[in-house]
Amino acid sequence: MTLFEKIVARQIPADIVYEDDLVLAFRDINPQAPTHVLIVPKRVIPRIGEAAGPADQATVGHLLVQAAAVARRLGLGETGYRLVINNGTDGGETVPHLHCHILGGRPLAWPPG
Ligand code: 5GP
Repeated sequence: MTLFEKIVARQIPADIVYEDDLVLAFRDINPQAPTHVLIVPKRVIPRIGEAAGPADQATVGHLLVQAAAVARRLGLGETGYRLVINNGTDGGETVPHLHCHILGGRPLAWPPG
């Protein structure tokens, strides 16, 4: 089981901010911005580079639309936010379970330090 599957299964506690049949969103344990939430598919796709086929396409589409909805619900709709998906070692991916970072609450520099 991946770390995030354990969070989905409530085997590891997390501060959950949104859940539906396909995705779970919870606060990052090591926030890089005043608001830092992760949204993950409940069914594991290891990383975006391995998303394939109609089911994964539907899941990834839903994940991104719900990421924006979660950002709005957390009050970031007016001020803005960043969605980030890391893929592989050079991308900074540390958990092999697709996740989209939702970052906001202050102006975010690009590229990140
Ligand atoms: P990545 O670097 O793979 O894109 O992002 C993984 C994220 O998961 C990191 O931002 C890290 O802080 C977060 N993370 C790692 N372990 C836990 C955990 O046990 N709980 C929560 N809520 N976040 C975690």
